[in-house]
Amino acid sequence: MREDDDPGSGHTRSRRAFIRASSMGMTAAALAATGAASVAPAASAAPVTAVERARRAGGRLSVTPACDGHETPAAMEGPLFKPESPERGDFITPAIRGVRLDLTGVVYDTGCSPQPGTLMEFWQCDQNGDYDTSGFSLRGHQYTDRRGAFRLTTIIPRDYWGRWGKRAPHIHTQVQTPGGPVLITQLYFPDDTQAYGRDFAALNAGDGIINRSCTITLSGPEDGAYTGAFDFVVKTTVQ
Ligand code: FE
Repeated sequence: MREDDDPGSGHTRSRRAFIRASSMGMTAAALAATGAASVAPAASAAPVTAVERARRAGGRLSVTPACDGHETPAAMEGPLFKPESPERGDFITPAIRGVRLDLTGVVYDTGCSPQPGTLMEFWQCDQNGDYDTSGFSLRGHQYTDRRGAFRLTTIIPRDYWGRWGKRAPHIHTQVQTPGGPVLITQLYFPDDTQAYGRDFAALNAGDGIINRSCTITLSGPEDGAYTGAFDFVVKTTVQ
């Protein structure tokens, strides 16, 4: 389903309730789980910024700044959010044949402190520009680990025609620290991204609602897969 095929209204209220319930009810468990599974000792837990990771990897320096306290800009949610997505950071299934993307990042507050236990929700279209509205393909939520870090294994989405015209490839994202407000935004791709034979520069230029400050830092492709980085800066209190 495309974004111009609106399945109906009523998502927003149920989503917020879901996120609040998830945050309050599951954060402790998520923290415990991530703590048990963490591979980084606390003593070395100073988070590495997206820019620093890209630099170490030899990648391009980015449009994604290190945390400077400026909040990540919000964007419209769109009509195709689905609540109650599965908890997972890996979206790859046999049906998903797009260009692979391994996206990592850190969630900070406006004081640049990393935010463990932050609820991250991701949803996107597939390699054909279609959203799954009957199931949960390319949809999922996860919680940042004790370093405030997340990891999403997915594909680069394709462009599509939607309610707001031609949309450049993007990943819809919600971010909510425990008890904090929900940031709804969209992540984009650099102009020289290579996927599906598409002209990302033209697609980005032709997207009327794109926010270039929400562009993922990409390294690659290597063996057909991209490595991406994006750090979020969010409010942690409801005002
Ligand atoms: Fe979309």
